[in-house]
Amino acid sequence: MTHPAQPKASHFINGAYVEDTAGTPIPVIYAATGEQIATVYAATPAIVEQALSTAKEAQKAWAKMTGTERGRILRRAADIMRERNHELSVLETYDTGKPLQETLVADASSGADALEYFGGLAGSLTGEHIPMGKDWVYTVREALGLCVGIGAWNYPTQIACWKGAPALACGNSMVFKPSETTPLCALKVAEILHEAGLPAGLYNVIQGMGEVGAALVTDPRVDKVSLTGSVPTGKKVYAAAAAGMKHVTMELGGKSPLIIFDDADVENAVGGAINGNFYSSGQVCSNGTRVFVQKGIKEKFLARLAERTGAAVLGDPQDEATSFGPMVTQNQMNIVLGYIEKGKEEGARLICGGKRADMPGFFVEPTVFADVTDDMTIAREEIFGPVMSVLDFDTEEEVIARANDTEFGLSAGVFTNDFSRAHRVIGQLEAGSCFINSYNDAPVEAPFGGVKASGVGRENSKEAIKHFSQVKSVYVRMGDVEAAF
Ligand code: NDP
Repeated sequence: MTHPAQPKASHFINGAYVEDTAGTPIPVIYAATGEQIATVYAATPAIVEQALSTAKEAQKAWAKMTGTERGRILRRAADIMRERNHELSVLETYDTGKPLQETLVADASSGADALEYFGGLAGSLTGEHIPMGKDWVYTVREALGLCVGIGAWNYPTQIACWKGAPALACGNSMVFKPSETTPLCALKVAEILHEAGLPAGLYNVIQGMGEVGAALVTDPRVDKVSLTGSVPTGKKVYAAAAAGMKHVTMELGGKSPLIIFDDADVENAVGGAINGNFYSSGQVCSNGTRVFVQKGIKEKFLARLAERTGAAVLGDPQDEATSFGPMVTQNQMNIVLGYIEKGKEEGARLICGGKRADMPGFFVEPTVFADVTDDMTIAREEIFGPVMSVLDFDTEEEVIARANDTEFGLSAGVFTNDFSRAHRVIGQLEAGSCFINSYNDAPVEAPFGGVKASGVGRENSKEAIKHFSQVKSVYVRMGDVEAAF
């Protein structure tokens, strides 16, 4: 019998599902059991062409509509997403393995937030009037044209919406390629947008591995590329986009610091560290995986952290009682287990977890290492799994320097009850998305993105509008033109 997660077809182009079984088959594996639940096919060159040509053509009429008309469709799509939240959450859980307890509140719902927020902004995208004596300049905020979105596997619905919603609000069209690991959810986003009245051809989803992404990025018809992925992929995609002088947004990886001072509330700090390391089984780009704890609070912090981490419920992700799911793939599980072994070899002290869980699927126990030093592999490389490194520190000055000593700069957090210190420290941390006495909040109203190797551009908020539109300026002369001859 066909599994309910099996989509009608692999691609969604020009307002309809499209199949082409000539492409490489991509098995969809449910991470909690290891069973194959669906198959999609990578886009062939013919599918890539169909998606790009339809998106290029459809964009012109879309950009001519008023922002209010475009926004109405996005807001309707947000309502449909919320009505179908349960069904979409179940699918997200099949796609990623993340527990339903999480997907019910974090995925389709944050996608709907993006559709609603950018739908609301669409009607207010205006230019400026700049007086120049008798003359004047006016500016027009115009769409970029055809945008490509390429997604990572950890938030397939959210990423499809975070890129699609601002792109469409500004009058662009989009071709979105999900990660080959999680190909299912973006198809639902496309389906819902069209159910809400989006004209055909404006939001297309095609499947495939890196080479399909590369074909999209290098096509001369594409005006903008927005990637969520790792730093090495980001460097390749950025370079390919630069060759065609295309706009880019790069949402890449991190190894973010979470700094806990002696005067912090221990329960809140432990909660922040858990949210910043074990949500989505640690597969979150902004995670605060280097937890710097001031020496005075260290043992108390570690004791409560071990106790509370022990309360994680590993199990069937479709059961709402489960609070901790598997790694997305066997390969990702093996990468994470490899890092855990490295941590042990390099002398970090294992506080809890530290191995594959004794159950079917790709589960790794939530793992905490203490006495981690800055040079250890687990403190330097992005693991993208449930492995928290706790490092000790003495002074504010020292911890700021150590926190910044990384190529990454996505996020940073500080727990302290001294608010002057909180702002002083955050002001010196090299990161795009920061938190004081909290960790990993990502509301659509706030800009999200990294500095240094963690990325270029911002998603969410009014900032995203700047990255999906461009400004035309028009000088208007009222008098005669003076010329040299
Ligand atoms: P990857 O970098 O492996 O892949 C990201 C996407 O790029 C996938 O769809 C992939 O295709 C595609 N791709 C790979 N090579 C190319 C290429 N040459 N040209 C165009 N596209 C290409 O990332 P993961 O999927 O493994 O995701 C994990 C990473 O994403 C982590 O580093 C994490 O930190 C980062 N991330 C960043 C976020 C942020 O907002 N800053 C949020 C979430 C994750 P395919 O995989 O199908 O082959």
